[in-house]
Amino acid sequence: MTVKIPFSEISEHGVQLEITEPSWFPDHLRDAADSVTARIFLVKRSENKIDLRGNVKAGIRLECDRCLIEYRHDFDSDLQLIVELADQARHWRLQDLEVGKGELDTIQVAEPVVDLGEILRQQVLLNMPAKQLCGENCLGLCKYCGANLNERRCGCEEKAVDSPFAVLARVAAKRKN
Ligand SMILES: [Zn+2]
Ligand SMILES: [Zn+2]
Repeated sequence: MTVKIPFSEISEHGVQLEITEPSWFPDHLRDAADSVTARIFLVKRSENKIDLRGNVKAGIRLECDRCLIEYRHDFDSDLQLIVELADQARHWRLQDLEVGKGELDTIQVAEPVVDLGEILRQQVLLNMPAKQLCGENCLGLCKYCGANLNERRCGCEEKAVDSPFAVLARVAAKRKN
């Protein structure tokens, strides 16, 4: 589904939309997402300018970068921006423009249409965590035996420090350098 709304369908009183259908969601995350909900409020500010406010929520199953366990990330992000019809001298394309965080951004479009699918997709991509962690203090996996250190202490780290193999490994590493 493409969610494109012509400026002409947006009045000064505003249009409220609730999109629970997830086809606009970024491809690589769509299968992992459930309960995707976008609430959007569009208001005509002038003939060529639309105010857009809203919020995107979704539960996304992600794999922790450190311990590789699947966890649920509650995506919840507010957006607020202006969609403005660019003057014809400049040929902006939506994908060339950044939708930043926080401040009121302006997206310039070549046609008087709000491409909600694209705007929402960018919002999700730009607000995903840079590092995927099941928890801030995730201990990750033991590099010797692969045990999940959040669940148990395997003791490899301590053993490795004084085992003869650890000494040999250090010697070997030095030779390589
Ligand atoms: Zn983890
Ligand atoms: Zn271990």
